[in-house]
Amino acid sequence: MPLGISAKCRSIAPSATLTLDAKVKALRAAGEKVIGFAAGEPDFDTPLPIRDAMKEALDKGMTRYTPVPGTIELRDAIIKKMQKDFGLTYTRDEIIVSNGAKHSLYTALQTLCDPGDEVIIPTPCWVSYPEMVRMAGGVPIFVEAGEEEGFIPSLASIASAVTPKTKAFILTSPNNPNGTVWGQDILEALAALCVEKDFYILSDEIYERLLYDGKEHVSMASFAALSPQVKARTLLVNGVSKTYAMTGFRIGYTAGPRDVISAMTNYQSQATSAPNTPAQYAATVALSMPQDCVEEMRKAFETRRDLLVEGLNAIPGIHCVKPQGAFYVMMNISALLGKRLDDQFIANTSDFAEALLEKMHVAVVPGNAFMSETCCRLSYATATEEIKEGLRRIAAFVKDLR
Ligand code: PMP
Ligand code: GLU
Repeated sequence: MPLGISAKCRSIAPSATLTLDAKVKALRAAGEKVIGFAAGEPDFDTPLPIRDAMKEALDKGMTRYTPVPGTIELRDAIIKKMQKDFGLTYTRDEIIVSNGAKHSLYTALQTLCDPGDEVIIPTPCWVSYPEMVRMAGGVPIFVEAGEEEGFIPSLASIASAVTPKTKAFILTSPNNPNGTVWGQDILEALAALCVEKDFYILSDEIYERLLYDGKEHVSMASFAALSPQVKARTLLVNGVSKTYAMTGFRIGYTAGPRDVISAMTNYQSQATSAPNTPAQYAATVALSMPQDCVEEMRKAFETRRDLLVEGLNAIPGIHCVKPQGAFYVMMNISALLGKRLDDQFIANTSDFAEALLEKMHVAVVPGNAFMSETCCRLSYATATEEIKEGLRRIAAFVKDLR
């Protein structure tokens, strides 16, 4: 048998967001002043009560394995949140805690997909969904919805992508990479479609607390609360990374039908065991404590969004839609593609992002990572002064394009 990597692993593309983030961090470590609009990682310190809880957990001896789907306390805190926010009742065996929402999504897809099963993904989409579906043996089916459609596909285009092989639909609202928030009507129609055509909705609600302009989050859970048939087909994924600036704690969770959660638990028991014990304790505190700090961070993101969107729209050749959630903006650079910077030809979003990083030390994620040919993604989970300086550098870069 020849040595080497499996064909399956050779075909996996690395996460573009994490690759770029590593590049930014390496440049900074080398002393370069890089403006990072790349990774979607809140720059705020994790709130003090959560950090204290983490330390307390160690002092209390919480250093051993927990049940595979998570501690009873954390699952109860999640159940309480679901009940309070959405009026939806879950039991402990309908919840599984994993190593971040990314791991929740991965495990859910491994659990749901047989080879050849189709998973519908609206595009532009978060970088990891298509690869995760492929890693599970499934086939990603893309439904494109560009800027003109407000980044939300019509029900007709979603319905026309459904086939007898459709296993699931991945919903991300608020959305990464475009910050779009899906409204009540389309979500209600999607809930009805999943019952009619019998597929799961994998609802990634990791940005549920980051909404602007007075918008309120409409969760798939609110439809699941009204209909047992919707509840039986809904897998809600969430986590603490974005809401509480806890990206490094690696805690995410899934709430869903008992048979799916039980299969996910079996899978997780063989793959990773339960998540980090002190981090589960800290996450329990995060979900249960007064939530004022969440609102403070949300307000700061809203101010930064306004600054970034206004600044980008003031640069000739660039435009962007004002997003209503998450902390990302899709910067449309279609008018700049085909131009040159000295002897460098800017043919696509990758060329643009590479040249911007090289010449101006500004990191943005090229749209092709999210299946967009016209935009680069900017994260505004970064300090106001950085945003201002980043805007100055982008404007100077664009000015030099011929
Ligand atoms: N879903 C989306 C849409 C995301 O942007 C992210 C970003 N990290 C995740 C899931 C995963 O988050 P985490 O694993 O840190 O909980
Ligand atoms: N989700 C964030 C992003 O899109 C963090 C990196 C990752 O997990 O992809 O930038």
